[in-house]
Amino acid sequence: MEAVKMTLSEKIAKELEQDFEKSMQDKEFATLVKRLKINKKLAMNNNSKLQDTCEELKNCSNCQGLFMCKNNLSGHVLYPSVDEDSVKFIYTPCKYQKKQDKALQEKKDSLNELKNARMKDIDTSDKKRLKVIKWLKEYYDNYEKVNTLKGLYLHGSFGSGKTYLIAALLNELEIKKKALTEIVYVPELLRNMKEDFSLIEDKMRYLQNVDILLLDDIGAENVTAWGRDEILGTILQYRMNNKLTTFFTSNYTIQELEDHLSMTKNGEDKVKAKRIIERIKQLTEDIELISVNRRN
Ligand code: ADP
Ligand code: MG
Repeated sequence: MEAVKMTLSEKIAKELEQDFEKSMQDKEFATLVKRLKINKKLAMNNNSKLQDTCEELKNCSNCQGLFMCKNNLSGHVLYPSVDEDSVKFIYTPCKYQKKQDKALQEKKDSLNELKNARMKDIDTSDKKRLKVIKWLKEYYDNYEKVNTLKGLYLHGSFGSGKTYLIAALLNELEIKKKALTEIVYVPELLRNMKEDFSLIEDKMRYLQNVDILLLDDIGAENVTAWGRDEILGTILQYRMNNKLTTFFTSNYTIQELEDHLSMTKNGEDKVKAKRIIERIKQLTEDIELISVNRRN
């Protein structure tokens, strides 16, 4: 008789064990327990939370990006961290979240850096940059003396300092010569214009008229016929007609940019792409800057 009768705690322990055995029949659950290298007792005590983690990991395995995240805290998995004989659950960012955080942080850092970029701080030790630096100095000296100055199409390798160098010139001209300048990250320009139609007119007017404009990273955008022809094309045409300096940076040579601009999801349009390229050629001198990647 004694042998059959269970105390309450024994009964609970038995139920816990049964629940756990049931969970272990799920392949993902068993894999998770194995990966954590925890003993049965610890796993049993955390059964339901481990199940939650498992559910979240299953969501992740079918996920293509933050836009479709189904987890409790978007972009995160409540993942167990084992510390001797206890398990803590911590919100851990997924690969998409990490990528987004990194991109955002880089953008913030580079914006701050760009605001402070000045010509006197330009590092001149790298011989590959001397041609550009000389060009920028000449532009600076001639500004106000000559009223139709071409900008640069500065293309080359990632992190070689293209944006930084032009930003330094623009800041210098703002501070010392009261020029009105603007730096626009092209992929963002085209994305935002789509999101906010009501701002388009004001923004276009501003970008068409600002004294000096840098269109940063042209070629990194997803090309749409509308972005290329109505936004870029219109801004460039206006600035050309009014002889306003326009700079570009790109990872593409001008020929590569032409190929890039000709492809949209609606097919190929070489004529329209060529039209943009012709305007860029009118507006700029072409310099290549291939150098070490200064981004860490
Ligand atoms: P790119 O536009 O060619 O991809 P960036 O202009 O963003 O490259 O430069 C990469 C990094 O190097 C940035 O962090 C930038 O601040 C830094 N940098 C570039 N040129 C200089 C310079 N002359 N002096 C100091 N830092 C520089
Ligand atoms: Mg850049």
